[in-house]
Parts: sequence; structure tokens; C-alpha cells
Amino acid sequence: MKKLDVLLHIISVFVISFVFFQDAPAQSGADRVLINEANRITNDNFTVSTQTPKGAHIYSVNQPNSQMLNAIDKGLADLFAVAQKNKYQKRLNYSDYTIFIAKADRDKDINKNYSPDIAVGAAQYKGSVYDQGGFVYAAGMVLAYNPCAFVFAEHTKDFQRVSNVVRFEGEHLVLYHNDRKLYNKTADHSRGGGHPILK
Ligand SMILES: [Zn+2]
Repeated sequence: MKKLDVLLHIISVFVISFVFFQDAPAQSGADRVLINEANRITNDNFTVSTQTPKGAHIYSVNQPNSQMLNAIDKGLADLFAVAQKNKYQKRLNYSDYTIFIAKADRDKDINKNYSPDIAVGAAQYKGSVYDQGGFVYAAGMVLAYNPCAFVFAEHTKDFQRVSNVVRFEGEHLVLYHNDRKLYNKTADHSRGGGHPILK
């Protein structure tokens, strides 16, 4: 009996390390850094990895449904269209984007409208009208510029809002890579200004 236990243990350790070994190459070093950053900011664990139908990379807390994934593609399509209108050429592929879907830290805004948002450290918004006591509620947040990455909250309805958030967070990334001057002017909303930036 004792011998069998030991054997089972060795087998299970072997299986676990084998699975880990198989998993490791699928995730690049850059992605691991991104996942850690998203985890640090949201306190969520992004255990699900998938892609949208058009090829954007997704990390999420729960398996996103097709409405979520299609809404993300729609937001990126809107972003790429307005970027092309402005003669921008860089980072206009779906696969250029890595998008994190976090848990919502609230479901409704102050006016009781459906508004799944994430709570993030106040930083430059400290003391502003957005400050909730050390944190602010954000519809989305840019995580990285290389690769282009941002995070927003899970939605169960109002998928047009998902498309808008994707397009709006994407604006900062497209501007960073195509029009640094306008990027610098519009990146910090605590000094006023919102979305859409690109017309
Ligand atoms: Zn913004």
C-alpha cells in the first residue's frame, strides 16, 4: 500500500511537470510579463487564453462568449477604419493586439447605468473628480505598447459598449505608434479630453 502511494505520487508529479513542459512554449516571455502586469493591476487571474475570429489575442478570467469576441473585433475594425482615414499604417492588424478581459469591479455607474468597470490605482487622477479614495473606476486601461495591450471588464450585455471601449483604448495605442505628438496631447484624461480622439 505504502509503495503504491509513492508510485502514484511520482506518476502525478511526472504528469504535472509534463503538462507544464508542454504548456510553456505556447506562451512567450513577453506574454508572461503582460499577464503578470494585468494580474498586478486588476488582482485577477487570467487563466483562459483564446483568440477572436479575426485573430486578436485574448486573456480572460472566464471563457468569453462569441458576442464578446465579435464585439472586440468590431471595435478593432472601427479603430482600423478611422486610423486608415487618418493615413496611419502601423499596428492595424488584429493580431497586433493582446486584450485582457478582467472581472468587473462595479456593474453600474453613479447614475445607475450598466457600466462594468475596473478599479485601478488613482495615480495622476488622485484628487480629481474621478478619485474614489485612492482608486478610480476605468472602462479600460492600456497595459503595454509593445505588444499593444489593454484590459477592460467582462460584459454580459450592451456589447456596443465593448466595441467602444476597445476602439477607445486602441486609439491610444494607434496614436502612440503613428502620431506621437497627438498621443502625448491626449493620453492623460485627468487634464480633460476624452474619446473618440480620432475622427
Ligand atoms: Zn483614453
